[in-house]
Amino acid sequence: MSRIYNFSAGPSTLPLEALEEAASRFVDYENSGMSLIEMSHRGKQYDAVHQETIALLREILKVPDSHHVLLLQGGATLQFGMIPLAFLKPGMSADHVLTGSWAKKAVADARAVGDVSIAWDGAECSYTRIPPQQDLSLNPDAAYVHICSNETIGGIQWQAFPDTGCVPLICDMSSEILSRPLPWEKIDMVYAGAQKNLAPAGMALVIVSARLASMARTDLPAYLRYDLHIKENSLYNTPPAFVVWMTQLTLKWMKSIGGMQEIERRRDEKSGMLYNTIDNSGGYYRCPVDPASRSAMNVVWRLPSEELEQKFLQQAQAEGLSGLKGHRSVGGCRASIYNAMPVAGVKALSDFMQTFMQNNG
Ligand code: PMP
Repeated sequence: MSRIYNFSAGPSTLPLEALEEAASRFVDYENSGMSLIEMSHRGKQYDAVHQETIALLREILKVPDSHHVLLLQGGATLQFGMIPLAFLKPGMSADHVLTGSWAKKAVADARAVGDVSIAWDGAECSYTRIPPQQDLSLNPDAAYVHICSNETIGGIQWQAFPDTGCVPLICDMSSEILSRPLPWEKIDMVYAGAQKNLAPAGMALVIVSARLASMARTDLPAYLRYDLHIKENSLYNTPPAFVVWMTQLTLKWMKSIGGMQEIERRRDEKSGMLYNTIDNSGGYYRCPVDPASRSAMNVVWRLPSEELEQKFLQQAQAEGLSGLKGHRSVGGCRASIYNAMPVAGVKALSDFMQTFMQNNG
């Protein structure tokens, strides 16, 4: 077997241990004579996976009893629409902070439902920084404040969560969930597509406070009702069993290496190594992002020319460093270094960057 280092933004690399465990138990799940994805989701075996996955999420993220943990389908994209449908009632307005491509998608869906006010727009800096608290125009009567805590394409990340007073803060954490502990007292809802730090695609993790959930509309089609998913413990309809199982295996892997503390240590080691390589390149590699807003998950950089970028990407691929092309909307290079990317992968990339610069400087 030869696995390469996969720096794709999502779907992205998963822990080898989790993949191997799933493979070894895939065809005959715990002597049931069938795989987990073929059995009833109302049976004991799936139920145990479901409950343990939720329990592990609560444990690792230290989710307080005041918040519900939901496993829903439709990815993060369904949440873009489900949130305003549930919480942006007629006569109300939602505050959105525009930090880049993903924040914009959330705004577009919210506008299809109701009134949106832009609390800050990063257009003037080409979405290369996160606003300080004092630059946010927050409405104390807003239905909620929405932010994208890590912009997967632009490579910027909120280092601290904004203070929104009594207004619920809702946060798209798709590309950074489980990479840091969360200040639950400031956050009413987080959501994240599974396919970066958790599992394959096909699920969104949603963690919502009871206070916000109690305000959700109930006169909506069933799947769009948070109250129903809470009541049924995310088993209102058939759950994405394979994705939930892979999430459980990823979370077990996280625990086995030392939990959140070790994840944070590795995160800082990996992102530090890459940003140092960029900063010590004498301007050969350029990170367009404000240093105080740099993402620890998606590191973006440019080379002196687009021709060199092409050459860089081709040679990197040949060296087993895959998925480094920046998003088609911005170009350049991007390394997505989620939890499962080994430190050795980032070291190999950093070494490659230095060699490439020496040969093409
Ligand atoms: N938000 C962010 C920050 C993302 O990176 C993505 C996917 N790349 C999404 C939302 C959309 O997620 P999904 O594809 O799961 O709907």
